[in-house]
Amino acid sequence: MALETARRIAAAAASSPPRAVLLSGFGEPLLHPDLPGIVRELRAPLAALIGVVTNGEGLSAARAEALIDAGIDFFHVSVPAATAATAGALAPGLDFAAAERNLTALLARAAGRIPVAVNFVVTAANRAEKAAVERTWRARGAWAVYAGPVHNRGGFLAPETPTAAAARGDCWVYEHCLFAAWDGRVLACCHDLAGAEDYGNLARDTLAAVRAHRQARLRYTLAGIMCRRCDFYLA
Ligand code: SF4
Repeated sequence: MALETARRIAAAAASSPPRAVLLSGFGEPLLHPDLPGIVRELRAPLAALIGVVTNGEGLSAARAEALIDAGIDFFHVSVPAATAATAGALAPGLDFAAAERNLTALLARAAGRIPVAVNFVVTAANRAEKAAVERTWRARGAWAVYAGPVHNRGGFLAPETPTAAAARGDCWVYEHCLFAAWDGRVLACCHDLAGAEDYGNLARDTLAAVRAHRQARLRYTLAGIMCRRCDFYLA
């Protein structure tokens, strides 16, 4: 995302600021060459909490401090497993040792200043390590450990458990969040890889126009196209 796009999104959202802005997506935000710059663009016009979701591999002391200086209010660090072997199977490109080191250091540095939570997506491959992940990171000072079941990511993954169509519509993401992609387009969520939902562009349109477009589309489709094949909350 260009800084100019972030500036425009912040300006569009300033009329009705969200409670929180989460820098995340189906990717790793720390790969952005100037994430603190994005935070600064959002910080000034938006009276919102700003957080980042990261796998922790690139969260060196210097980068963490740069983000805190820019105005980050909280960190969520995704931890795939308790052991290197399981992490290697689930996230083959991840430097698990570096991610663990960085998270441990961040917890020590942020203690009493910035909440740092751990995200743990429970799958068949790491279910046996859930208790160890919760125990380890709580003991090291994590503000919370969020352990939720894997879902099929808008239908892109094979579900691990049968879906229950009756429970659809429970997704808090769809209910409470607006997802802006790198170019400002507002999509269903970060799983909308092909832009199946497109409610307008916050770098170009007003927030009211985007919301009206989304509402009009929902009246027609009842739920986002992505959501009709997603089993969020059901795995
Ligand atoms: S239900 Fe829709 S908004 Fe929620 S995670 Fe699935 S695709 Fe995304």
